[in-house]
Amino acid sequence: MTGGNHPQRVILAGGGHAHLAVLADWAAHVLPGTERILVTRERHLAYSGMLPGWMAGRYRAEELLIDLAPLAEAAGARLVLDDVVGLDAAARHLRLASGEALSFDLLSLATGGTIATEGFAALGARLLPVRPVERFMAGWQAFCAAGPGQVVAVVGGGAAGVELALAAARRGHHVHLIAPAAGFMPGHGGWARRLARTALARAGVTIHASMARAVSDGLVLDDGTILPLDLAIVATGSGPPGWLADSGLALDPSGFLLTGADLRSTSQPAIFAAGDIAARADLVLPRAGVHAVKAGPVLAANLRSALTGTPLRAYQPGKRRLALLATGDGRTIALWGQFAAAGRWLSRVKDRIDRGFIARYTRRT
Ligand SMILES: Cc1cc2nc3c(=O)[nH]c(=O)nc-3n(C[C@H](O)[C@H](O)[C@H](O)COP(=O)(O)OP(=O)(O)OC[C@H]3O[C@@H](n4cnc5c(N)ncnc54)[C@H](O)[C@@H]3O)c2cc1C
Repeated sequence: MTGGNHPQRVILAGGGHAHLAVLADWAAHVLPGTERILVTRERHLAYSGMLPGWMAGRYRAEELLIDLAPLAEAAGARLVLDDVVGLDAAARHLRLASGEALSFDLLSLATGGTIATEGFAALGARLLPVRPVERFMAGWQAFCAAGPGQVVAVVGGGAAGVELALAAARRGHHVHLIAPAAGFMPGHGGWARRLARTALARAGVTIHASMARAVSDGLVLDDGTILPLDLAIVATGSGPPGWLADSGLALDPSGFLLTGADLRSTSQPAIFAAGDIAARADLVLPRAGVHAVKAGPVLAANLRSALTGTPLRAYQPGKRRLALLATGDGRTIALWGQFAAAGRWLSRVKDRIDRGFIARYTRRT
């Protein structure tokens, strides 16, 4: 990719966890010969590590929201608050919800994942998907305004579902966690699952080893029981955004954008991606914030290299990743590969790590 006389237009689509390091890189070192744009839906990014803590009432919203406007300004990037609704990879332009079309020379995508909610439509206003996170936060806040003692069902037994169920119980609701047996803390060892079950039992959360489908009266479980509820939080894992399907980019069988280890699209050299929207062609990477964050500096370096034609780096994830699950009662479960431990002291460690992350990306203007 050559600069020529015209500035190269570099667009970051989505102010996701994966793009924070890119914005920091641009703020620290000039990216010569470029016009930079950050197009994202909302001005603030909610740091997912602290979301369950906010839900449980331990953090105020301001404590986990990262303001992207000062980061974009420091990076010399124009901030466009809009939704990407289409991408034509060959023509190199993005279509926005406002009707605007943005052409680009280099594009990086970190718009995160989506939650499929089609099967839950019968619940109407009682349905609260965990994504988009901004809408989830508004919905949870409105729900809690009606007071405790309501019935909340969390659909999805991954680490996020467990944390959300524990947080909801902490707010004094009657909580049900619904996931098939194989979908309870998948990818974690037996000890981790036992610690999670103990925490859920202590919090009074009822676990249903079942799939769930919605009818107007509530959620139907595998044995035909109908679970009436006031709110269903759907946390069934990330799916790809619908607009990727028509982008002309190489996708994996589930519809995620396929990249190499260098985070570059396998089919379009002008497009990079990291975080939940991407799937690696060379390995299976769990969709987790920790990978989005850790891929960020490699993404930053590779966007520079793509502009100058220098070799790209690979993002090599470690074999194990540390996951810290807040249990809502002041304890935290630490997961490291097959190793797991729980304790109050781990909550202090988690709090320090989380606040440190927020501080790193908080610019005082
Ligand atoms: C409740 C919960 C708890 C979690 N806890 C953890 C945890 O403790 N540890 C961990 O490793 N992972 C955790 N995760 C997973 C983690 O949140 C994701 O893996 C991570 O956020 C992915 O980062 P990303 O950069 O891909 O996108 P995201 O961080 O999801 O950000 C996407 C950004 O793009 C914007 N956007 C979305 N769509 C569009 C669009 N069409 N146009 C423009 N902008 C758009 C959004 O507004 C947002 O700014 C959790 C997830 C949930 C739901």
